[in-house]
Amino acid sequence: MRAPLVDRFGRVADDLRVSLTDRCNFRCTYCMPAEGLAWLPRSDLLTYEEIERLVGVFLDLGVRTVRLTGGEPLLRRGVEALVSMLAARGVPDLSMTTNGLLLAEKAEALAAAGLRRINVSVDSLLRHRFAEMTRRDALERVLDGLRAAERAGLAPIKLNCVVVRGTNEDEVVDFARFARATGYQVRFIEFMPLDAEEGWSRDRVVPSEEVLAAIGRVYPLVPVDHGPEPARVFCFADGAPGGVGVIASVSEPFCGDCNRIRITADGQFRTCLFALEETDLRRLLRAGADDDQIAGAVREAVARKWAGHRINEADFVRPARSMSMIGG
Ligand code: SAM
Ligand code: SF4
Repeated sequence: MRAPLVDRFGRVADDLRVSLTDRCNFRCTYCMPAEGLAWLPRSDLLTYEEIERLVGVFLDLGVRTVRLTGGEPLLRRGVEALVSMLAARGVPDLSMTTNGLLLAEKAEALAAAGLRRINVSVDSLLRHRFAEMTRRDALERVLDGLRAAERAGLAPIKLNCVVVRGTNEDEVVDFARFARATGYQVRFIEFMPLDAEEGWSRDRVVPSEEVLAAIGRVYPLVPVDHGPEPARVFCFADGAPGGVGVIASVSEPFCGDCNRIRITADGQFRTCLFALEETDLRRLLRAGADDDQIAGAVREAVARKWAGHRINEADFVRPARSMSMIGG
């Protein structure tokens, strides 16, 4: 076991997001353009063996949580095989973020392969609005996927809901009601300037405080102590099942406590969603680097991790790649 990954501000990086692909079967308006985003050539994507090797190095560096993401991770062929390779490596907390479109057919195989829990993105419970936001008329299929995940024992099920002003903020209480009915935890995410169409503006961000106030007026909430996660989590004061969480990346940045690091589908290591710099782990892997060299490159990059994103500063610069290419 190597020394943990500590940056110059004393933060320990132990939560790794691994993007499996930049491709997606949705085109969410806050993430991708309707068309025209060029895909990475397949030969640029890390193979499952390369991902397994890298995850092994990261486990040795103290990583505890590995979340598979994308693009849409369920589009990667035979993804269950990767899940079982990583589970066999003994990842303590292995999870996935998906849009749920293929979950009904995949949930059982994923659970059998060793996936523990799942986050599913659902931005509206209204069919027409879901179709507008994702540019796919697929709410029913995603809801089927959620039920399949539940049957397969992927628990707890968390929903990710990006709240965009003028689009879906009127549904936050409906989502809380849905959480109470299903036992799911619904996490409301602030819209971040990572959309490919660069349509983000501050007035389209719905601050998490506003979401909590709207829900609290109908269903009083009680904060829950949940460890080092960036989400603030609440249960219902009346003891109903389920809960809500908020991720206030824009209005209340949690960079001071950030424990996250990322690998893109093409093997670039990033110490922040908004990082302007990447470290090319794929090149190292393919040049025959040994584990010490890879661990050394990762450690150097983590040491350089900045204090935090600068969304709220005048000198903010958007990263060159947008959300689906980085891996959310
Ligand atoms: N395709 C999968 C999905 O949608 O769950 C996984 C990848 S997606 C990039 C990961 C998460 O990022 C999703 O919950 C999505 O809603 C969120 N996301 C995408 N673009 C965003 C943005 N501009 N601001 C905030 N969250 C965003
Ligand atoms: Fe695809 Fe997820 Fe981006 Fe939506 S948020 S376009 S589902 S990668």
